[in-house]
Amino acid sequence: MTPVCPFVKAARPDDAQLARKHGAEHETQGGKDSGDTATISPKCPFGYDSQSFKLGPLSCMICQALLFESSKCLPCSHVYCKACISRFKDCPLCGADIEKIEADTNLQSVVDRFIEGHARIKRSHVDTNNEEVVSDNKKVIYEDVSMERGAFLVQQAMRALRAQNIESAKSRLSICAEDIRDQLESKGNMPELCSQLGAVLGMLGDCCRAVGDAAGAIKYFEESVEFLTKLPTDGLEITQTLSVSLNKIGDLKYYDGDLQAARSYYFRSLGVRRDAVKSCSDVPSQILDVAVSLAKVADVDRSLGNENVAVNGFQEAINMLGSLTLKSEEASLEQRRLSVLEFLKNQLTDKQSEPAP
Ligand SMILES: [Zn+2]
Ligand SMILES: [Zn+2]
Repeated sequence: MTPVCPFVKAARPDDAQLARKHGAEHETQGGKDSGDTATISPKCPFGYDSQSFKLGPLSCMICQALLFESSKCLPCSHVYCKACISRFKDCPLCGADIEKIEADTNLQSVVDRFIEGHARIKRSHVDTNNEEVVSDNKKVIYEDVSMERGAFLVQQAMRALRAQNIESAKSRLSICAEDIRDQLESKGNMPELCSQLGAVLGMLGDCCRAVGDAAGAIKYFEESVEFLTKLPTDGLEITQTLSVSLNKIGDLKYYDGDLQAARSYYFRSLGVRRDAVKSCSDVPSQILDVAVSLAKVADVDRSLGNENVAVNGFQEAINMLGSLTLKSEEASLEQRRLSVLEFLKNQLTDKQSEPAP
């Protein structure tokens, strides 16, 4: 699964707001004062902005994310994340033989302070009559700070994930989840925050799964489900994240041999997807998702020895996909439809050719 930044959506209204603001400025030039509170959005001095990231002095060349467990190669002194450099014998920057790797705690503390402080300079409402307000914590309103920082942290985590630096990603995502939890505590269960937390927790679950920590993964996926079920399931993305989290728990239970539990999670996921189709029936990707869920449930039913139920499930999915017509521009979806359909048909023919037990 390609991780999608749960903050992508949050960034858009912000951009729109900015654009609107600029537009409004032109329109009302010389006109009445809009009365807007002064909002500063300074650029990060290191270039670590969520929109325009460039490699800075605090980054690791290998994973292209902020350093995690900074480690210095000796004798050349080039610095990388511990997990990243441990896969190399020669320094990727200068080619020198690595004789020893030692922790660079000083640099790491700079990185950690940077993360702690990042985005806190953004979006602070400043009383322009009093310059000192900025340095006085109590008078600055950190509006949406955790979202800004959240987008940044998720971006860093996704980079680390791509480079297989799982611990780095987990660390960034954990901070992000904490930020959102703080916000939820102060603002109540806002749908957008719940949805973001659900997504971030899902990513944390993926990290655990990647390092073989099934119990940790289930814990995060469960929590993700808990937050996502607080939301109305009419949004495509929420339905998607929720049903995928449920399926992932189902998979982990399945591999663990707990078929009953696996079935119940797959079944819940199927329910979420069915409801979504009911509320907006003409989204082909959602119909495909229902078919996939039907197949998952049917597969467990077969393993549990409920052959008739399984066959019905596979058949329902086949009928569903058979009557699904896609537009010519949905080529990749059509490809997926055909491959799922083929899988489903194989499930029925394979079984029929087998002798009855
Ligand atoms: Zn790295
Ligand atoms: Zn080097």
